[in-house]
Amino acid sequence: MNITAMQAIFDKIKAYDKILIFRHKLPDGDAIGSTKGLREILRLSFPEKEIYLNNCDSSDYLDFLGGEDEPQPDEFYANALGIVIDTATAKRISNPRYTLCREIVKIDHHIPIESYGTTEWVEEERSSACEMIVQFYAAFRDELKLSREAATYLYTGMVTDSGRFRYREVSGETLRLAGLLLDQGIDADRIYAHLYMKDVSSMRLQAWALSHIKFTEHGVAYLYITRAVQEKYGLSFESASAAVSYMDSIKDSLIWLAFIENTDGTIRVRLRSRFVTVSEIAECYGGGGHACAAGATVNCRKEMNRLIADADRKLGEYKETNEGWL
Ligand code: AMP
Repeated sequence: MNITAMQAIFDKIKAYDKILIFRHKLPDGDAIGSTKGLREILRLSFPEKEIYLNNCDSSDYLDFLGGEDEPQPDEFYANALGIVIDTATAKRISNPRYTLCREIVKIDHHIPIESYGTTEWVEEERSSACEMIVQFYAAFRDELKLSREAATYLYTGMVTDSGRFRYREVSGETLRLAGLLLDQGIDADRIYAHLYMKDVSSMRLQAWALSHIKFTEHGVAYLYITRAVQEKYGLSFESASAAVSYMDSIKDSLIWLAFIENTDGTIRVRLRSRFVTVSEIAECYGGGGHACAAGATVNCRKEMNRLIADADRKLGEYKETNEGWL
């Protein structure tokens, strides 16, 4: 725990009357949960401050957590502290106007690629950015307030980004901090209902996907979901992107990849793995993330095939030099 960085951020928060909170594009539960959770904690603790979330996109899947605040004018930004959470690189920040803020704080748990804040707190071994926000609350709990609403946002981000507390970054501290949220009386049953219940089009995509998974020589599993397939199954880009999870338990396939075609012809890549590091592959294509969950965007099928070949090579090397994987 980096208490010096946390203290520096708390001092900044206290020094500003106006605060804007940002996250990454294509938000997931952690990006939404951490930003909304921090906003609630700060609003409760400092009712005299003006604190808003101003991001430019949303997630249908997570709309049960609610939307963004009213967009603020440039003058508000000029006097505000900007806090960017869960975002490793400046180009992934959902709202490009974040640069108008007087100072920028970065709070993140991804492998650091770029520094863009005037004050930064990055701990890549944390299972989620929400965990960091709960840690922040716990460190200054004499001065901060937590509500059931804030705990609901933060718990949603913790469970989604840690694979329901399964990933290797989950520590004893993760569970202690999650316990602190459960103590607020949150309705975890309801959160899980929102996270697990799917519409029929997603189930049909799953049926299609299971018979269209391809495998490389060394066992990398991958799926390419073209615009035509997305249209055929009436899928949003977001629900098509969820297909990466259909490949997460294939024996021998320690790396699995989903390629989802964007409307502009570029292709979103979602890389996942057990044991093998895939973030370096994502970084070669301008992306990043965590050792076993990373993302990038490629421009064409040729680049997609190159990335598949890179992943295949990586998995081949891993299998040759390691024992004991399943
Ligand atoms: P995703 O497949 O989009 O869920 O991404 C997996 C992880 O990699 C998440 O932690 C993302 O924040 C991160 N990530 C995804 N795309 C990128 C990118 N283009 N650059 C840096 N990090 C990314």
